[in-house]
Amino acid sequence: MVQPEPPKSLAKVKHIILILSGKGGVGKSSVTTQTALTLVNKGFNVGVLDIDLTGPSLPRMFGVEEKQVHQSVAGWVPVSVYNNNNNTDEKKRGNLSLMSLGFLLGNRNNSVVWRGPKKTAMIRQFLKDVVWNGGSNNVPLDYLLIDTPPGTSDEHIAIAEELRYAQPIDGAIIVTTPQQVATADVRKEINFCKKVNFDILGIVENMSGFICPHCAECTNIFSSGGGKLLSEQLDLTYLGNIPIDPKFVELIELQDNDHDKKLIDLYDDSELKPIMND
Ligand code: ADP
Repeated sequence: MVQPEPPKSLAKVKHIILILSGKGGVGKSSVTTQTALTLVNKGFNVGVLDIDLTGPSLPRMFGVEEKQVHQSVAGWVPVSVYNNNNNTDEKKRGNLSLMSLGFLLGNRNNSVVWRGPKKTAMIRQFLKDVVWNGGSNNVPLDYLLIDTPPGTSDEHIAIAEELRYAQPIDGAIIVTTPQQVATADVRKEINFCKKVNFDILGIVENMSGFICPHCAECTNIFSSGGGKLLSEQLDLTYLGNIPIDPKFVELIELQDNDHDKKLIDLYDDSELKPIMND
């Protein structure tokens, strides 16, 4: 049998990482955003592909909801979230670009009610037709982070089929919250990864306590330690925990002109290092 070629648009991407979660609202898109910003601050060129077709939230999180993707001869040009060429600081940061169905929907309140084959076709197109060149300087991406819908759906299967032959696919980061109920859903995600032969890079526990902005004391609003426990039980790497961060929420809601710069600065000294082993 002839093996399909890997999508050409991904051929030069150094690392491809999926962000998965068992259910919605646990902070998968937030973790994608924060990981992308941390990597950009470390000087890497990062692309983010939002294939959460039922609720594409990344354009809003990155503050680029009003921007548009362009169609070039080579394919879709993703939206530039942060371009190092415009950077006036000394610091060597990378570029950040985003492709999301949200840009094609026109209105934030529109949602996609598509059957499986149409979703699959759209994801194939996203994987094949986006020109990931790491910003205007035509540098290949160091990292492509793919934000997926919750659970395991048509979108995941399409990604698994399409990326099976891509070079290289590093694996998946699984996001959970501390409660046992969330970790139960994560097990399904882990089984899916095993079935489709995706490596699991590890588990991140999000919303792991709230750090009081006044006294810096951490309060475990939910029970704690579910992510760590699960990783021990399943012999997976525990990548760490992310507390609820009011500054992050504030910036997302603010949507002002300096959004990109402020977000980038917020993660400048981030200790989020799930995937830093280049
Ligand atoms: P998912 O992608 O899993 O559906 P989101 O990333 O959209 O979840 O998060 C749901 C909501 O919770 C968003 O409004 C987001 O801003 C907020 N949120 C998630 N993680 C954090 C965090 N660590 N600190 C503050 N707010 C968060």
